[in-house]
Amino acid sequence: MNLLDTIAAVSTPYGKGGVALIRISGADAIAVADKIFKSRSGKSLAESEHGRMTYGEIFMPGESDSVDDVMAVAFRAPRSFTGEDTVEITCHGGVLVTRKVLSAVLLSGARAAEAGEFTRRAYISGKLKLNEAEALGDLLEAKSESQLSLARGGMKGRLSKKMGELYDDLRRVLSGIYAVIDFPDEDLSEMSREEMESEIGRVAADLRRLADTYGTGRAVSEGIPTVICGRTNAGKSSVYNRILGYDAAIVTDVEGTTRDVLRETAILGKATLLLCDTAGLRSTDDKVESIGIERSLKEIEDAELVLAVFDGTRAPTDEDVSLAEKIGASGVASIALINKSDLCANPCGELLDICSSFGKTVVLSAASGEGFDALAAAVEELFIDVEIDIKKDAVVTGARQFAALNSCCELLCRALEDMKSGVSLDACCVGIECAMSALGEVDGREIGEEIVADIFSRFCVGK
Ligand code: GDP
Repeated sequence: MNLLDTIAAVSTPYGKGGVALIRISGADAIAVADKIFKSRSGKSLAESEHGRMTYGEIFMPGESDSVDDVMAVAFRAPRSFTGEDTVEITCHGGVLVTRKVLSAVLLSGARAAEAGEFTRRAYISGKLKLNEAEALGDLLEAKSESQLSLARGGMKGRLSKKMGELYDDLRRVLSGIYAVIDFPDEDLSEMSREEMESEIGRVAADLRRLADTYGTGRAVSEGIPTVICGRTNAGKSSVYNRILGYDAAIVTDVEGTTRDVLRETAILGKATLLLCDTAGLRSTDDKVESIGIERSLKEIEDAELVLAVFDGTRAPTDEDVSLAEKIGASGVASIALINKSDLCANPCGELLDICSSFGKTVVLSAASGEGFDALAAAVEELFIDVEIDIKKDAVVTGARQFAALNSCCELLCRALEDMKSGVSLDACCVGIECAMSALGEVDGREIGEEIVADIFSRFCVGK
């Protein structure tokens, strides 16, 4: 990928629509567009004002019939999304006409953009920090209001700002220590050794608090691996469908209908669930069903949240008891769902006893939808920190950011211990510098090329 090339792509989704947008970015963007764009006024894009739309037509190079009527706008570096000269052409949104406009641009000297290349250029030219680019990716994927709030906060630089401040605090401590090392007889440092130690401790604590927001960020953005289990006919598939809001799983009163593990992503209140429905637990001679049951048990082991469904109209069976014991022994976060409340509002005491071993119990009806708000609240209570305002606070939303913050915290704590136990200041400086490098990975100021390539490969072409 040559980042000096002028690139182009269709930035709107493939298919028929009112309009489509073709974006061109790079040093030759305006010259490339001017080869195929003729404005009604006769003024070229090179002569047009920055950011002002111009009405005109697109022509294939060397042809006199126009391809389409379009609006074109030139943005001059660095005042564009990519930080480079950019032209955006808005044409009519037919599949063929869009393709022809793009072909005309490519024939005039632009290269087809690779996935995520526009955003990558924005990162390289300093328009976006790496975590802000990730937030932009989250914004494009957002399916819930909470995901959108977090992504917007990330794009506005809430996390970058907080991290930038902590990075600067560490730099100040480091330069203070170097002043003491290099000029031991002069009093150049603004801070005493005690003040330096307390400042490192304060930054480490702030970073720990920031890293801890990942529990909430992950529950909202990435999702909680969640398994729905229970004995056959308790209503697992009905609960699965109700949470998803559509009939993804087949529901019948025939035992053993769900034989394999089904997976979907669902939004429940503020949380995102990476949901899987499993085969009902019962003894069976059916070979396929037995394999399904083995898989169910494996899913329970790997889950971070177990929703155990019980039939509220019946007394618990041996399968119910052994499922509750298994979940209790695993220590995983769990919620007992006593289903079919439309048929029986007061489950029997024996069932309530079994459910008391779970973290929480919710009585609900997959048929009527009653109780699902209480289920959403129970999940939020387990996974979402009420102290965090996702509309205002800096929140860590990705595993990469969390790992970097975590290692920064650990390195800082080690450096602090070394300082307190009298290890040489030179050695402490190395520890603090390593911590700063780890912190720099979050916003991309210190990051390997492979990681950058991996992040931008997740974007679509045209973004
Ligand atoms: P699974 O085997 O645990 O996945 O159970 P299903 O979701 O397939 O449901 C088994 C039977 O119970 C079906 O006939 C469902 O229509 C019925 N059922 C499930 N949930 C409810 C509920 O909340 N109320 C009532 N009345 N019937 C339900």
